[in-house]
Amino acid sequence: MRFDVAIIGGSYAGLSAGLQLARARRQVLVIDAGRRRNRFASASHGFFGHDGVPPETLAALGRDQLLAYPTVEWHEGEARAVEPVDDGYAVCLGDTSARATRIILATGIRDGLPAIPGLEERWGRHVFHCPYCHGFELDQGPVGVIASSPMAVHQAMMLPDWGPTTLFTNGVHAPEGDELAALDRRGVALEHTPVARLEGEGVELVLADGRRISLAGVFVQPRMEMASGLAHQMGLAFEEGPLGAFVQTDAMKQTSRPGVFACGDMARPAGSVGFAVADGTMAGLAVHRSLIFGL
Ligand SMILES: Cc1cc2nc3c(=O)[nH]c(=O)nc-3n(C[C@H](O)[C@H](O)[C@H](O)COP(=O)(O)OP(=O)(O)OC[C@H]3O[C@@H](n4cnc5c(N)ncnc54)[C@H](O)[C@@H]3O)c2cc1C
Repeated sequence: MRFDVAIIGGSYAGLSAGLQLARARRQVLVIDAGRRRNRFASASHGFFGHDGVPPETLAALGRDQLLAYPTVEWHEGEARAVEPVDDGYAVCLGDTSARATRIILATGIRDGLPAIPGLEERWGRHVFHCPYCHGFELDQGPVGVIASSPMAVHQAMMLPDWGPTTLFTNGVHAPEGDELAALDRRGVALEHTPVARLEGEGVELVLADGRRISLAGVFVQPRMEMASGLAHQMGLAFEEGPLGAFVQTDAMKQTSRPGVFACGDMARPAGSVGFAVADGTMAGLAVHRSLIFGL
């Protein structure tokens, strides 16, 4: 079957895009591998009306509501490649393929975490990147920022609103001058001894000199990596953000390639569920308009 649009990535951004197109009675195929970025966390916060809901519950609700529309099909699995064909694109799904006039990429990002023993296992439970998402639940307990980029200073400046903050410079970035003065004004403590590992049921930092520091939570600045190679395979233009490259789009979420749109974390310098939903909504509307008025 030929679809009006194939949406690759059926999480918050892709589901929102699909909803607009389904409500316009367009033929929609959603392809999803089921690996949402926030699958490591037990609750999603900060998205109004759904604050504190488990991420999988929110996604399942969106999927059920989308699939109630008669023009929507769901393919569980990975889109392997997207190739241009006459008047549209072919999406390779392994054994089979699907054709669509437009493509929406909503494949999200992967978090490149600092390679510190014990950190990855605590990702989303005691180690976070976004204080708006998980800071409140730390109950104003002591928090640590482990530097993995110069953005650590920005993060450390924010965090005292959530709890007493220590910046572990970890040999990555030692603030000086104005930065140092600003951190001092915010009451941020500095620790230059490298972090050897994370331990404990909660989170305990073990420093290279053997000291142990118990914290309510740890924050890092993950490197932003595309969760899927499709955007590179299609030769889309990228833009550099503070934590890595993301797919370049215009205000209507159109990429550098005609007929290909991108939304959510993969097409923003930084993301959240709310931003992904807004982005997906725009991509859905833009694709619908492009099907009527042309590109
Ligand atoms: C630990 C953690 C906790 C977070 N907590 C919060 C929070 O509390 N509140 C909040 O607002 N935000 C939170 N976020 C951020 C939030 O997870 C993202 O902003 C949001 O998931 C982005 O939505 P998205 O639809 O763009 O991408 P994602 O949710 O990452 O979904 C991308 C989808 O595309 C699929 N996919 C990828 N490649 C392919 C392919 N080739 N073929 C088929 N499918 C593919 C994936 O499997 C996945 O299902 C958190 C992030 C992390 C890491």
